[in-house]
Amino acid sequence: MFERVSILRHQIEQACSKCDRSPTDVELLPVSKHQSVASIREAVALGFHSFGENYVQEGAAKQLELPEQKFNLIGPLQRNKVKAALLHFAEIQTVDRVDLASRLVRMAEELHAERGVWIQLDLWDELTKAGGCPESELSAIFSELAGSSWLKVRGFMAIPPPGQESAFAQLALLRNHWQQKMGLRLRLSMGMSNDFEAAIKAGGDQIRIGTALFGERQ
Ligand SMILES: *Cc1c(COP(=O)(O)O)cnc(C)c1O
Repeated sequence: MFERVSILRHQIEQACSKCDRSPTDVELLPVSKHQSVASIREAVALGFHSFGENYVQEGAAKQLELPEQKFNLIGPLQRNKVKAALLHFAEIQTVDRVDLASRLVRMAEELHAERGVWIQLDLWDELTKAGGCPESELSAIFSELAGSSWLKVRGFMAIPPPGQESAFAQLALLRNHWQQKMGLRLRLSMGMSNDFEAAIKAGGDQIRIGTALFGERQ
């Protein structure tokens, strides 16, 4: 893993220098879905303390084994798993419906759970199965979340269709627009193993990397 992380860091530096960004402005979130707890421990030894997980149950089990580490939910969330998600994840990146937002608000209040939340966007309807909402839902979701003193909106998360790199620039424009409109700093989580360089170039703040860091999933 050391080798893969070194290569990755080098690639991130190169991508940043090409567009005059500082590598410290790009957060690398390791995605540990379908990776063992032993692999996560290896990553912890290399200095990583936040991990992305797609499934509530899998992430919760890992969080119980590694209570010092932070887990971020980056997979779809069902209403009936909201409580478990809030108990085991520090951040939830896949808020994409008003009813899910309102359930999160109520449950966070009940649990007194201070958490970061991200709104997942899908501007390309072909991707609906991966979750995400169109821009037209944003106002309603923002106003739902604004009613909570426990949940803090961190930004937008998206999984653009592979190969459609103009999507990253589209997301960056949308982020800038809503940042001004809401008077809120909004980060952008976009880019995975095969397209993170384009995401960095377009202004992404967080890249989510699975296979390029951990190797193939089990
Ligand atoms: C699996 C996954 C990743 C990581 O994908 P890799 O191609 O392995 O880097 C990132 N984001 C989401 C939402 C994922 O589901």
